[in-house]
Amino acid sequence: MTTIALSFFDIFKIGPGPSSSHTMAPMKAGHDFAREAARLSPGELERAEKIEVRLYGSLSATGEGHGTDAAVVAGLMGNPPETCSTDLIDRLHLQKNNAVDPINIGDKVFHMAVKEVIYDKIQHDFPFSNTLVIRLLDKDATTIFEKEYYSVGGGFLQWKGWTPPERGEPIYGFSSAVELGELMEKSGVAGHDVLMQNEMAITGASEKEIFSGLDVVLDAMEVSVDGGLDGEGLLPGPLKVRRNAAYLYRNGCTMGGSAGRFIALLSAYALAASEENAAGHRVVTAPTCGAAGVIPAVYCLMKRNLKIPHKNLRRGLMAAAVVAFLCKTNASIAGAEVGCQGEIGVATAMASAMITYAVQEDPVLAVHAAAIALEHQLGLTCDPVKGYVQIPCIQRNAVGAVKAYNAHILAVLEKPGYFDLRLDYVIEAMAETGRDMNRKYKETGLGGLAVCIPEC
Ligand code: SF4
Repeated sequence: MTTIALSFFDIFKIGPGPSSSHTMAPMKAGHDFAREAARLSPGELERAEKIEVRLYGSLSATGEGHGTDAAVVAGLMGNPPETCSTDLIDRLHLQKNNAVDPINIGDKVFHMAVKEVIYDKIQHDFPFSNTLVIRLLDKDATTIFEKEYYSVGGGFLQWKGWTPPERGEPIYGFSSAVELGELMEKSGVAGHDVLMQNEMAITGASEKEIFSGLDVVLDAMEVSVDGGLDGEGLLPGPLKVRRNAAYLYRNGCTMGGSAGRFIALLSAYALAASEENAAGHRVVTAPTCGAAGVIPAVYCLMKRNLKIPHKNLRRGLMAAAVVAFLCKTNASIAGAEVGCQGEIGVATAMASAMITYAVQEDPVLAVHAAAIALEHQLGLTCDPVKGYVQIPCIQRNAVGAVKAYNAHILAVLEKPGYFDLRLDYVIEAMAETGRDMNRKYKETGLGGLAVCIPEC
């Protein structure tokens, strides 16, 4: 098995929603293409007349609902996901027929409207489902330069001929939860120190830089929750979904009975971040945009309601990242590959590990909590109505957050010695279930709720 050499920041990426594979990665593709094409010779650039963007697979099937077209165009305009303004995205959505801002490649200026993006074949022969091809064409539509990109889940982008970037070797190499558990036991080093030493070795960053990066991620999560709690009105798109987080939060605060209030607040936090995602505002992939409400909800609960100290919150976030490392490496975190079990399912497992580690600082217990959480999300399909990351996605985040807390309680209150390291088997089951899952349930909008709720 492959030794895992992922960084925390490969998992937690900040950018506009509503889908890491459909907005963040395509935006990166547009941004990369503009930079690469700028290296062409002046003669080649002079001949170029037009930029062509073709979407394939689930990018074609549900790209319109996810705003893939606007994301690629914003990227071509020179915007990376971390800094792209929400205002530009809103303008691109509102004025699909017009070229709202110029695209500058070298000295050449292009104009492209969002509606020019081509929704090509859903079934295709490219090696990855979510493929997009960007070309620079001359006046006869002959290709001057092209690049074939693959959005491989969680905002990760690869392309034809891509080779993994050079990275340092982790100090504590592992490829499974069992191996990680064994090496932690053998080394006698605390779980979070093992993860920090690995992160430093892999990325070359200092401990201070890594902590500061984790704080930026935690802050962005909290901002997404607060943005949603302040939000009112309808979300974009034809479903006319009303924002509900603020209403639920207000009702939750005045609810009698601490158990109901607790669940209402946790759910409101999750709805809030998810509604921000659906609005195309900035969120954190955790591990994806579609699942961007689960971990921020549990984080806000830990910080605001449970008053867990900041250093434990950071450590919890590291534990959450490790669960994503294992799922991404040994199964998938892409709805297009394994359905929603890879998105909300993995987020639930990550959040459960996060709170368990933050409270107990016991890696075995955290891994056990993650296994319980993921076990009960196996088989979860991806079936967004009309391709919009709204129904069932927004409420599914709230249910995932509550389930994460439930798994945490089950793990910490079970009889000592009952817990085990079965997470690897659960991840294997997720991969197997994903392989068997009909394509209809993998982010195509062609099955399940997507067809059973045709009009809302
Ligand atoms: S159903 Fe799940 S995997 Fe599919 S778009 Fe919604 S959140 Fe993502």
